[in-house]
Amino acid sequence: MKNKEVANLLYTIADLLDIRGEIPFKTRAYRTAAQTIENLDEDIEILAKEGKLETLPGVGKAIAKKITEYIETGSLTFFEKLKQEIPEGIIELLEIPGLGPKKVAALYNKLGIKTVEELKKACEEGKLRGLDGFGEITERNILRGIQLKEKTQGRFLLNLAYENGSRYVEYMKQLPYINKISIAGSLRRMKETIGDIDILVSSDKPEEVMNHFVAYPEVKQVLLKGRTKTSVILEDGIQVDLRVVEEKSFGAALQYFTGSKDHNIALRGIAIKKGYKLSEYGLFEKDTDRYVTGETEEEVYRTLGLSYIPPELRENRGEIEASLNNSLPNLVTYEDIKGDLHVHSKWSDGLNTIEEIAIKAKELGYEYIGIADHSQSLKIAKGLSEERILSKIEEIKKLNGEIEGIHILCGTECDIKQDGTLDYPNAILKKFDFVVAGIHMGFKMTREEATKRITTAMDNEYVNIIAHPTCRLIGRREPFDLDMDEIFEKAVETNTYLEINAFPDRLDLNDIYCKRGKEMGVKFVINTDAHSITHLPYMQYGVATARRGWLEKKDILNTLPINDLKKVIRC
Ligand SMILES: [Zn+2]
Ligand SMILES: [Zn+2]
Repeated sequence: MKNKEVANLLYTIADLLDIRGEIPFKTRAYRTAAQTIENLDEDIEILAKEGKLETLPGVGKAIAKKITEYIETGSLTFFEKLKQEIPEGIIELLEIPGLGPKKVAALYNKLGIKTVEELKKACEEGKLRGLDGFGEITERNILRGIQLKEKTQGRFLLNLAYENGSRYVEYMKQLPYINKISIAGSLRRMKETIGDIDILVSSDKPEEVMNHFVAYPEVKQVLLKGRTKTSVILEDGIQVDLRVVEEKSFGAALQYFTGSKDHNIALRGIAIKKGYKLSEYGLFEKDTDRYVTGETEEEVYRTLGLSYIPPELRENRGEIEASLNNSLPNLVTYEDIKGDLHVHSKWSDGLNTIEEIAIKAKELGYEYIGIADHSQSLKIAKGLSEERILSKIEEIKKLNGEIEGIHILCGTECDIKQDGTLDYPNAILKKFDFVVAGIHMGFKMTREEATKRITTAMDNEYVNIIAHPTCRLIGRREPFDLDMDEIFEKAVETNTYLEINAFPDRLDLNDIYCKRGKEMGVKFVINTDAHSITHLPYMQYGVATARRGWLEKKDILNTLPINDLKKVIRC
């Protein structure tokens, strides 16, 4: 599917038009179309072939024509010309968190800044503060944005890597010469960002495997092609390394290439103590070099006297000790999840009706789905006024009577105001089945202020869940500076569930906070924060984060069946 690619192209066109000073009406059209395509269920290439692009909301004749040209030829004359009018570095400036096209245009037109280097220098020399709409704080924020960008440079969000990796593995399986195949590396450990994708195969015909690998239609460039290792870059920009090994080494190689480095160092230490040598080729007797085992990971761990360690735990954060004394957690699985309690509908800034969401949730096998739209102050996200809440509650009541096999719950994602009070009075809050509370405005706070804001919200008796507690956006916004131990203590005291927001650029709380919170007795809920039914499957990334944080079924609210859930929340 080229949906993401086409959406990105349209977003970039809109930005460049903004920089050129085009009228807002025109640039808005590109952004609307980009948004539609980004969230589309169907394949844009098929729609283009069938001439159906103009049936999409927000896609007019002119844009449809451009999309068709891009899909048919792989490039777009209009875009190429536009790029020539604007210096190359400008597109890179647009990728800095917090810098929109308007600011980039001002920097370019007034100060002649056209590269990240020039921008950095100008910030450090205090040259921006003279410009209209810029100040010392803007300079500091831009510098922090540049740092953030450098830190995540060349890394990809988990969902992009996971989707690409899964598609590639499916394609590889078409070849009959493949005995075993698995994703390895940080993707197998489901880290929040991924540098490159590792795939491991066992086969007696490595040459055929390599030929098939480089013939994958999404390959943009072959970096190297050998008998045991081949590397390519995909259309999405991500690098994939394939290794082919012998059957008897597959388990040892999978263990080795899954990592992490720290986990493997510790494991090799145990091997040596027991008189073995562990490498990507297998487990060998140290003195005689005799092959002991290596065909499966399970055997490798067992021979070393360890119980099997799930890949998500392999970070050397105590998993080896826990494995040695048989106290590894029984990790939560995707199948344990019974519903999602943070989904936006058309009532606020979501793309789908509650009915569409309910039907999709049923398809996913859920028992319940919680619609949590924004509250009144969030005008930009069409937050609900008190009157509209009553109509929404009515609609849900009606739908619950009509649709069988799924319980629709009416919640809210209520904004937490600067002083920690909520955006609705308690008289309104008590009308909901459950209340998710989160911060969406006023991000500039000291550690004390931010911690107090959240703990005060937890003191409200109607608050069940704190949404995306640290409010980070991976690669774009740093997490709040919070006293997490204080937050965990308050969560336990007030019986508030902390969210693991499964949206791939959030994954908030992260794995480390999950583990720490659990040790302090905190309970969690895994929600997607879906704004489209295409986001509902993101649940798996939240589950992966929970697993990386050592969480079990009993730690997670939405593993409860509906009847038990009802005892915990008001519905
Ligand atoms: Zn939110
Ligand atoms: Zn939300």
